[in-house]
Amino acid sequence: MTIVRETIARAARRAGRDPSSVRIVAVTKGVPVTRMLEALEAGLTDLGESRVQEALAKIGEVGHPVRWHLVGPLQTNKARHAARIFDMIHSVDRLELARELDRRAGLAGRRLEVLVQVNLSGEAGRHGLPPERLHPLLEAMGALANLHVKGLMTIAPLGRDPRPVFARLRELYETARHRGFPGVDMEYLSMGMSDDYPQAVEEGANLVRLGRAIFG
Ligand SMILES: *Cc1c(COP(=O)(O)O)cnc(C)c1O
Repeated sequence: MTIVRETIARAARRAGRDPSSVRIVAVTKGVPVTRMLEALEAGLTDLGESRVQEALAKIGEVGHPVRWHLVGPLQTNKARHAARIFDMIHSVDRLELARELDRRAGLAGRRLEVLVQVNLSGEAGRHGLPPERLHPLLEAMGALANLHVKGLMTIAPLGRDPRPVFARLRELYETARHRGFPGVDMEYLSMGMSDDYPQAVEEGANLVRLGRAIFG
C-alpha cells in the first residue's frame, strides 16, 4: 500500500497535480473478505468488484462503511441488484442499461452515481461506447432523474502504450465538461490499473482501479 501511494504521489507531482486528488478503488475480485478488511484497516475507503454476484456475496460480510464500485461490465438483467448495492457504477455504455438502472434506482429510493465507459482501444468486441456516441448518450442520461452522471472510464489496451488512450479520455472529459450537459457533472476520470496507473495519473486520472498492485 505504501509503495502504491508513493507511486501515485510521484506521478501526480510529475504532472503538477496534488496527490490527494487521486482516489484509489481497491479492486477485490477474487480477494477474500479477510484481506478486504485488512485493506480497510489500512485506510482504503473504496472497494471495487467486477461482478454483481461476487459483490452480493461479500457486501454483507464486510460490514464497514465502504463506497462500493462496480468496475466490470453489467448485463441489463443484473441492474436491479447493481442499483441497490453499488454507490458508483463505472461501466455504463448504453442507454438501455442506463434506463434500467435509473428505473431500479428509483424503486430503491436512491440516486446512483455512474460513469460512462468509453472504448478507445479500437478493439471490437470490447465493452464501452465508441467515442463518437458519447455526447448523445450524455444528453440522454442527464435527463434520467435517479442517475447522476459523474464522469468517464476506460480500460487501456493490453500490450500497447496506454498513454494515447488516457490522453484521449482526458480530452473527451474536458470537452464534455466545457460544453456542459444538463444533469451531468464531469468530476471523475476513472483510468489506470495495476500495470499502467502511473501513466494514468500523469494523464489526469483521479480514480485508479487497482487489484494486483494492492493484493498481489
Ligand atoms: C480487474 C479490474 C481492475 C484491476 O485490475 P488489476 O490489473 O489487478 O489492477 C480494474 N478495472 C477493471 C475494469 C477490472 O476488471
